[in-house]
Amino acid sequence: MPAPPPITEPDPSALVCPGDKVGPCTGCQRKTHRYGIGGSPLCQWCMEPVKAGWGPAVRFVSTRP
Ligand SMILES: [Zn+2]
Repeated sequence: MPAPPPITEPDPSALVCPGDKVGPCTGCQRKTHRYGIGGSPLCQWCMEPVKAGWGPAVRFVSTRP
């Protein structure tokens, strides 16, 4: 994952979705594909660490030896 560009740069998803589905990321205020199908309140740069945090947390941890 490359370092995030400056927040003045829109998320790549904002460039390929309809303009009325674009909104500010709730994390960094960057323009991102926020609404509608495939939209997210977080840009991909803010979403990445969140998804990484979900990974181990959602796994069932067995206590059996
Ligand atoms: Zn963001």
